[in-house]
This record gives sequence, C-alpha cells and structure tokens, in this order.
Amino acid sequence: MKMRYTLLVIILISVVILSMSISSTSQSVDNKYEQARLRMVEIQIERRGIRDESVLRAMRSVPRHLFVPSNLIRSAYTDQPLPIGHNQTISQPYIVAYMTEALHLKKEDKVLEIGTGSGYQAAVLAEIADSVYTIEIVEPLAKSAQKKLDKLGYKNIFCKAGDGYLGWPEAAPFDAIIITAAPPRIPTPLIEQLKEGGRMILPVGEWYQELVLITKRDGKITKKKLLPVRFVPMTGEIQNQENTK
Ligand code: SAH
Repeated sequence: MKMRYTLLVIILISVVILSMSISSTSQSVDNKYEQARLRMVEIQIERRGIRDESVLRAMRSVPRHLFVPSNLIRSAYTDQPLPIGHNQTISQPYIVAYMTEALHLKKEDKVLEIGTGSGYQAAVLAEIADSVYTIEIVEPLAKSAQKKLDKLGYKNIFCKAGDGYLGWPEAAPFDAIIITAAPPRIPTPLIEQLKEGGRMILPVGEWYQELVLITKRDGKITKKKLLPVRFVPMTGEIQNQENTK
C-alpha cells in the first residue's frame, strides 16, 4: 500500500516537472520569435524611415511567424516576401509597414483590404484601426486566414472569399482601402467606396508596378506615385475589364 502511494507521488512529481519544462521551452521559443520581430522592426523598418508609432507598435506585436507556412517559419522575420502557397506571397515586412503608414490610420477607422493572402496585413491593420474587412479570391487561402485570425482572437476582422473588384458594398464607405495585389489600372468601383477624406493605397501596373496613394477630397481624387514595387497580379473581373478595353 505504502509502495503504491510512493509510486503515485513520484509519478505526480514527474508530470509536474515535465509540464513545467514543456511550458518553459514554449516560452523560450516565443521569446526567440519576439526577439527576431523586434530586430526586424528596428533594422528593416525604423532605420528605413517608418516613424508612425502605431505602425511600429503593430509590427512589433503581430506574430508574423504564425502567418507563414511551417517549413518557412525560420525565415518569417527576414527582409523579403515569402511564398504562402497557391502562387501567392506574404509581403516583405517593410512594404507592409510602408503601406500601412501611408494610410494614416486613426483608431476609429474602417478599412477594406483586397487580397487577404496569409492574413498578416489584415492583422497589422486591425491592431491600429477599428475594423478591417478583407476579401481573398483564392478560397483555401481565405479559409485558412480566417481560421488563423479567429484563433489569434481578432474580433474586428471580417473575412470574405471572392473577387474584391466590387469591394464590400454592404460595409462601405471606408476610411481607408488597401489592395495587396497589382491591378493593371485603378479599379473604379473601389474608389466609389472610399469616404470623403479617405485614403487608398495599391500597386498599379503589370511588369512595371508602382505604389500609388489616392486621396478623396471634396469628391475629387488625387494620385501620388510613391515607389516601384513587385506584387502578384490582381485576378478576376479586373482582367476581363482590361481585355474589353
Ligand atoms: N496581404 C497579404 C498578401 C497577399 S498577396 C498578406 O498579408 O499575406 C495578394 C493576394 O491577393 C493573393 O492572396 C491573391 O490571391 C489575392 N487576390 C488577387 N486578386 C484578387 C481579387 N480580385 N480579389 C481578392 N483577392 C485577390
């Protein structure tokens, strides 16, 4: 009887020790990614001139390594875009920060994103703005991004699978719109869903692409070219529109 009792105590102690060591390993793994993330923000983002504190804070807190395929997790914080399957990519961290900063988001803003991809950019936006509506044309990507964002507890991101060409009329108008795939020219239905005073950023072009910032003031549109970039093409309706032009 005593023997059994001693055995039970030994087993219990081993279980406690084992679970403590497992949790400390996962803490040190989290810590390792956090270190890499803080370094990414300092070297790739702050040093290149991103100053908006809300953007820097968001980039420091969203766990980018959870948005890349598991075989690329070690490269999650490197200075490059990465493949996410279905011929698509998660953008380079600097470009995510640059586009977000250009939108001049306020915490009460409602944002539309076309091209959810991994869901990473949506998470960054959701750290700053009030709500994010995001549309992805590749259904499996839309599903997996939604699952991930739910798991991470983002209650202010609304995902939809489909062609973003016509935007999200039920939720429009938006304070800011971001397109993370490149259309050959600016999709006009999206401009209509921009609020007065709203900002929209997108890469435009085919082989040669430039980031363009659009602002709407007194119903008038101004366009500013920012920098050359390389994004995956925007697919769906915009390509038909182009063909019939
Ligand atoms: N913002 C993403 C990057 C996505 S890459 C991230 O943070 O990971 C661009 C994405 O746009 C791709 O997933 C592509 O499938 C999607 N896309 C292309 N054309 C689209 C369209 N017409 N409507 C919605 N999504 C589109």
